[in-house]
Amino acid sequence: MAVKPAVAPALMERWEPVIGLEVHAQLATASKMFCTCRRVYGAPPNTFTCPVCLGYPGVLPVLNDQAVDFAIRMGLALGCRIRTLTRFARKNYFYPDLPKGYQISQYDEPICEGGSLAFTLEEGTPRTAGITRVHLEEDAGKTIHGLPGSAADGSYVDFNRCGTPLIEIVSEPDFRSPQEAHRYLARLKQTLQFTGVSHGDMEKGELRCDANVSIRPRGSDELGTRTELKNLNSFRGVERGLTYEIGRQIELLEGGGEVEQSTLTWDEATGETRLLRSKEEAQDYRYFPEPDLVPLVIDEARIEAIRANLPELPAQLEQRFIADYGLRPQDVEVLTRSLALAAYFEAVVAAGAAPTDAAQWVQGEVLRVLNIEQQEIEEFALPAEGLAELIGLATDGSINRLTGKDVFDKMIAEGLAAAAIVERDQLLQVTDAGALEEAVRGVVAGLPDELARYRQGETKLLSFFMGQVMKATQGKGDPGLVRELLPRILNEP
Ligand code: ADP
Ligand code: MG
Ligand code: ZN
Repeated sequence: MAVKPAVAPALMERWEPVIGLEVHAQLATASKMFCTCRRVYGAPPNTFTCPVCLGYPGVLPVLNDQAVDFAIRMGLALGCRIRTLTRFARKNYFYPDLPKGYQISQYDEPICEGGSLAFTLEEGTPRTAGITRVHLEEDAGKTIHGLPGSAADGSYVDFNRCGTPLIEIVSEPDFRSPQEAHRYLARLKQTLQFTGVSHGDMEKGELRCDANVSIRPRGSDELGTRTELKNLNSFRGVERGLTYEIGRQIELLEGGGEVEQSTLTWDEATGETRLLRSKEEAQDYRYFPEPDLVPLVIDEARIEAIRANLPELPAQLEQRFIADYGLRPQDVEVLTRSLALAAYFEAVVAAGAAPTDAAQWVQGEVLRVLNIEQQEIEEFALPAEGLAELIGLATDGSINRLTGKDVFDKMIAEGLAAAAIVERDQLLQVTDAGALEEAVRGVVAGLPDELARYRQGETKLLSFFMGQVMKATQGKGDPGLVRELLPRILNEP
């Protein structure tokens, strides 16, 4: 991978990166922006199209109200002003996947303006980014170079995506590092998902990001010449692409050169940016008001109704989790990553588990399995009540933690309740001191060499003995009790 290592610290002390992001999010509407075609993903090519989204002459667009509501909802979530009169504009350019020869977008009268989004850096430092605008537009089709599974050359166009409703969220140039840009994006994605405005799945192209970046001498408050990076298809891509580009700009300026305003594409495979077009080749989109749509009038009542129904936003949910459950911010960040995961955690607590135990099990065991199985929490086999029951058995001492993990896996594999597995496999924790002492003595008697070494001062063998005793009790020994018994018996004269 050719991503240059982070620029030498001495140079980073001299240069400050400035980053602004343009994010496109596909709206979670049932149908497309200006026609009744369903909005689908992964269908056979060109099966969800009609004369409107294919741009036949003589057809007229009809605006999707749900898309407008979603744009307003996201605008309100970002604290934007909502325009009561907003206009659509034609952005003209030619590309095979744009059959009309223009995209219906918005230009100087976008639906939302002037908001902000608060987020935190990894260490918890709070930051706020300004939101310049949120505007509505339609997506283009998809060009596929080469057919999958075929050696045939050529490019193919799939128009299913044509006319999919999008919002573009433009930030102020408020980020000072690739990591900051990444954290903002994660928060933005979460906000889109919490409000139900977009599924925000980057792998499906539902969330796409272009990044504008420049550098300037530290201490300066002027903006340097920027380049725009396209094709950043993942959070990692955003960080890597920006890191590379910042390094390239610093090298250029340090070498006495100049940054040329240009559009670049990020190549994930080679880890480099490539020039798409320079400023001289910049496209003139010849924007003009869309003649086929009347200006959109949005009355205050509509805005207020949407405001009244805004769901809990990520920051509010985090605050509530900290206040209600007494959890640490870093745990809350994980548990509220998605609404569904937060709901699962809350259901485990509602079913009787202590919040700190529930937090530990969900973050440890549940996320481990989801990760291995590549599952979403919605698909997770173990109901929250089942996990709460298991946590109950582990906290009242019926089983120990080690056994608990084992039972957890069996519950998922076999679909049985915790108590049933514990009974069937006789997993109740051995807390009887007499029985445990017997087990400890048996193990110690069988390991005379290790015992001798331990007595000669090799005390780190204690954990070895500990393991042997747990093995001898099939993992069922009460670890606390074993830890008490062992040193006493090992040190007996
Ligand atoms: P365009 O429509 O040509 O892409 P905009 O003015 O809408 O241009 O800006 C796009 C993005 O670029 C915004 O997110 C803005 O914050 C960011 N931006 C503008 N100037 C700079 C700069 N000098 N350095 C970094 N980012 C910038
Ligand atoms: Mg741009
Ligand atoms: Zn259509």
